Amino acid sequence: MYVPWLVDAARSTGYPVVEVPGWQTRGHGGMRVVEGVVGHHTATADSAPGDYPSLDVVTNGRPDLAGPLCNLGLGRSGTVYIVAAGCAYHAGASRWLGFLDLNDEFLGIEAESAGAGSWTAAQLDAYPKLVGALLRYMGRGVERYAGHKDVCVPAGRKIDPVGIDTSWLRARAAGAGNPVGVEILERVTITPSDAGEHVARVFLSGSPGSAIVVRPRLAGDGSARPMWVSNIFAWGSDHVGVGRNPGQLPGYDPKLTSHRRYEVPGAVWADIRYSAAEPFDIDLVG
Ligand SMILES: [Zn+2]
Repeated sequence: MYVPWLVDAARSTGYPVVEVPGWQTRGHGGMRVVEGVVGHHTATADSAPGDYPSLDVVTNGRPDLAGPLCNLGLGRSGTVYIVAAGCAYHAGASRWLGFLDLNDEFLGIEAESAGAGSWTAAQLDAYPKLVGALLRYMGRGVERYAGHKDVCVPAGRKIDPVGIDTSWLRARAAGAGNPVGVEILERVTITPSDAGEHVARVFLSGSPGSAIVVRPRLAGDGSARPMWVSNIFAWGSDHVGVGRNPGQLPGYDPKLTSHRRYEVPGAVWADIRYSAAEPFDIDLVG
C-alpha cells in the first residue's frame, strides 16, 4: 500500500510540511503493512547549507543504494518533508517485535543531523511529535517506535539516531496530544464464547470525534494476543451509516497485533465484526 495520510499526520504536528513531488507513488513497491516507525539521522555534515540538505539523497538514493531511503525527512527547522508513501530502503537487515526486515512494515524518518548527537531545539520538539502523529494515524502505540540502533541486524551495526534516546522519544510521543480527542467514555470488555466470528454492538456519543479503539489483551511479555476485526458498521442517530467500513479499504489488514483506532464520526452505535480466542477490550472515545 502507498500510505495516503502522511501529509495529514505531519501537519498535525503544527510544523511546516513540504510535499516532495511524486511522494504519493514513490517507493520500492508499496508497504506490505504499516506497523511502526524507525528513527534515523542522515549523517550529512553540519556544514551542508540549508534546512534539509539530505533531501536529494534520501529521495533519489546514492550510487550503491537506490532511493527512496526514507518515508519522511525532518529538517533542522522542524519542517517535515514527505518523501515516499511506499517502501523505502531505510532499515536494511533488521528485526523488531517479531517483524523481520522492516522496510515494508515500518515507516522511516531521516532527521537532519551529522550524527554527533547535536539537534536543534525545533527538532527535539518536532521529532517526537511526528512519531506520535504517525503512530496515531496507524493506530499503534508508542512501543512501535524504535531507533535504527534498536532494530538493526546484527546488533551494533547502526548507531542512529545518536542523541535521541528511544525511551525519551516514546515518552514525549505519548504526551504529544491528540488533536482529534482521546477522552475515553467507557471501556467495554468482550468475552467471546468461542474463536469464531461474532458481532459486538457498542453505543457511542454521536460526537464528531467518536471513535472505537479495539485492544487485544497483552501477554506477560508485552506482545498482544492476536485477534481479527473484519469490519465495522457504524450508524448515526438518523439511521444513516457513518464512518468507513474498514473491511472495504484497500490494504486493510483485519489481524490486530496491537490496539487499533477506528474513526466513526457521528456514530451512536456500531457493530464490530470480530473473531478472538480470548477476552479483549473496546474503548469508546468521544
Ligand atoms: Zn539509519
